[in-house]
Amino acid sequence: MTEVERLDYDVVVIGAGGAGLRAVIEARQRGLSVAVVCKSLFGKAHTVMAEGGCAASMGNANPNDNWQVHFRDTMRGGKFLNNWRMAELHAKEAPDRVWELETYGALFDRTADGRISQRNFGGHTYPRLAHVGDRTGLELIRTMQQKIVSLQQEDKQRYGDYEAKLKVFAECTITDLLKDGDRIAGAFGYWRESGRFILFQAPAVVLATGGIGKSFKVTSNSWEYTGDGHALALRAGATLINMEFVQFHPTGMVWPPSVKGILVTEGVRGDGGVLKNSEGKRFMFEYVPDVFKGQYADSEEEADRWYTDADNNRRTPDLLPRDEVARAINSEVKAERGSPHGGVYLDIASRLTPEEIKRRLPSMYHQFKELADVDITAEPMEVGPTCHYVMGGIEVDPDTASSSVPGLFAAGECSGGMHGSNRLGGNSLSDLLVFGRRAGLGAASYVESLDTRPKVGQSDVDRAARTALVPFDPPRQGVEENPYTLQNELQQTMNDLVGIIRKAEEIERALAKLDEIKERIGNVLVEGHRQFNPGWHLAVDLRNMLLVSECVARAALLRTESRGGHTRDDHPQMDSHWRNKLLVCETTTDDPLAPSVTVTAKDQEPMRQDLLELFELGELEKYYTDEELASHPGRTA
Ligand code: FAD
Repeated sequence: MTEVERLDYDVVVIGAGGAGLRAVIEARQRGLSVAVVCKSLFGKAHTVMAEGGCAASMGNANPNDNWQVHFRDTMRGGKFLNNWRMAELHAKEAPDRVWELETYGALFDRTADGRISQRNFGGHTYPRLAHVGDRTGLELIRTMQQKIVSLQQEDKQRYGDYEAKLKVFAECTITDLLKDGDRIAGAFGYWRESGRFILFQAPAVVLATGGIGKSFKVTSNSWEYTGDGHALALRAGATLINMEFVQFHPTGMVWPPSVKGILVTEGVRGDGGVLKNSEGKRFMFEYVPDVFKGQYADSEEEADRWYTDADNNRRTPDLLPRDEVARAINSEVKAERGSPHGGVYLDIASRLTPEEIKRRLPSMYHQFKELADVDITAEPMEVGPTCHYVMGGIEVDPDTASSSVPGLFAAGECSGGMHGSNRLGGNSLSDLLVFGRRAGLGAASYVESLDTRPKVGQSDVDRAARTALVPFDPPRQGVEENPYTLQNELQQTMNDLVGIIRKAEEIERALAKLDEIKERIGNVLVEGHRQFNPGWHLAVDLRNMLLVSECVARAALLRTESRGGHTRDDHPQMDSHWRNKLLVCETTTDDPLAPSVTVTAKDQEPMRQDLLELFELGELEKYYTDEELASHPGRTA
């Protein structure tokens, strides 16, 4: 029988980023006992890296802003493939979630008259991002941790123990979800330091594990982003959607090689920075796609006026949605108008004073100075696309964040639907707050509704332990494999063949390579023992990276159109027949190391009429089929 530490909770939240912490707060405030588990240090979630800000239509910078405008921008950014109910809840609730953070102790930057300041970002009609310099994510995490400490202090007064009802388990990796019949019964994992096993017995699990960026070679994401939540959900029988949509942020560092992919915040362009090619030309004016024609400035003069007079000028195309800007940079580099190291130039030096740059973008100033020896107050940055965010994730009910598996909930980047085919900058931090809270509420209501609690079976625990320890066993068949080699091959494959521009033949090659890695993964052998063993940790994570990569590749092959974060060179147009189609990923075999993936198409529920009426018919005609619009009042009148 496996030696395992066993603990009982009402709700286990896996992930201590913005989504996880917000879920924890909500579930605890509802009176439930909550464990929060994270594989990194507490406080070192990916959310900390968020720079630009949190989108919420507070209307502080422009009184014309409201939830309807935010909703419209989000749907446009996602090319109308978003789950409209999620986009609606998000737009309506984001301002309250930002305010609530201030009640926890956050302090956002202020306007001259003391209101929360809001900055411009790509695809947002009005300045909308509440921010704290370019360290917004840090403030978000800091204040939610502070809130958690205050809840623990209340528990100490009431129960005599800070951790009586809310405990943090840091540097602890969850490797399996366990079920009792169809229902979630717990989560199994190991302590990274000791390698010892731990079992959380709980009727509700909230996944808040973030993204999948480490499946790609060039990425802004940190080491935790190995798609664990996506893979845990799949293996537990839940479905993933939108996995073909991967966001390549247009501006990652390109030089020196050791820092390639590190993010250069969109806040640089929001605060006036412009993109230029090797000829010094502001090339974005050449790349405004038809669906956005008329909404963006067509001269440099108008674009520059817009920064100070947004009501009477159209916004700069430097702030088109990210997918558009990333493709434009790719085209400039291909046309040999790029910078020396394979990017383009991002110039803020000629646009703001050095003092202003250091005040508004302190992290960017230090990042370039320290990592690339570039002074961004005096010279342009070199930037290029980097894998940044996954729009795809666990399919959830918009209101409760529940997945198709009873007791399993998901929020934040590991959930799918909200952002459609492309996320607008700033819409992730607000997503974490809105749906993190809803996941906490959903999980609490679910637990309260149960008559009997599910039980974890010993055989499932033993199986989870055996699976975790496979990398210490002799290879399944023949040659032993090194996890670092396999990871490198996987990342290169995804980068080169399922990256920013895709075609069928390349995706098929990628799938063949993934099949080969699937065969080899059973032969991964790690040295040493279970105490802090990074090779073993990677071997376990690699299974998740492989599974989510297969989902991305299979869905990318099936979607024969270009939309948002999915660009097919062999199908370059957006096809309205694909707009309402979700590609749903499921696992079909029980192989714990490398299960198979199937992808099927299904239709989304049509948008509610009152929401549809927020758009001009002429705009909808760019995205919808004639059949879909046949009953639109504009057509029937
Ligand atoms: P995270 O914050 O990544 O948290 C994931 C948690 O899950 C971590 O605690 C991790 O340890 C844990 N975890 C993962 N797997 C396991 C496992 N198996 N077992 C236990 N724990 C596990 N968005 C914006 O809206 N505005 C911005 O300005 C912005 N800037 C960004 C800048 C950068 C450099 C990057 C990379 C992203 C940025 N984003 C921004 C995107 C945004 O930061 C992320 O989408 C968001 O923070 C994800 O939050 P999350 O709560 O879903 O996950």
